[in-house]
Amino acid sequence: MTEESTLERGGCLCGEVRYTFPRTDVLSAHHCHCKDCQKSTGSGKATILFIPVDSLNLMGELKTFTVVGSQGSHVTRGFCANCGSPLISYVAEMPAIKFIKVGSLDDSTWVEITSSFWQKTATNWSPVDDTHPAFAANPES
Ligand SMILES: [Zn+2]
Ligand SMILES: [Zn+2]
Repeated sequence: MTEESTLERGGCLCGEVRYTFPRTDVLSAHHCHCKDCQKSTGSGKATILFIPVDSLNLMGELKTFTVVGSQGSHVTRGFCANCGSPLISYVAEMPAIKFIKVGSLDDSTWVEITSSFWQKTATNWSPVDDTHPAFAANPES
C-alpha cells in the first residue's frame, strides 16, 4: 500500500502568507509554555510542529523578530506583516528544523502532541497537559 502523503496547508488570518508540507515529514509536535511563547501568542502556550526545513514550502513573506532565548540561542519568530498572525519560527542554532504554529493549519485535527516544554513557567489558567511527557524547560540541553 503506497499512499501519497497528505499535503497539509496552512496560513495566516488574512491569507497573504500560506505554506504547505507533507504530513509524513512532521517530526513531532509540542506545547511550549515559555514566557516568550506566552508573550508572542498572547496565550498560555505555543503549540508547534517540528518540520525539516526542506519539507516546508512557504508562499508569501514573513516579517520576523529575533530574540536571544533563555539558553543563548537565537529564536526568530515569523509572522504576517499585514495581519500579525504568528506562523513559523526557527532557532539559528538548529538550522535543519522549522517550527510551525499548529493553530495556523487549515486542518489540525490529526496533530498528536509529543511533549510539553517549559512546565516551570506554565500558568494556572493554562496548565501543562499531563497526558504526555513534560520538560521543566527545554528538552535535554
Ligand atoms: Zn496575514
Ligand atoms: Zn516557547
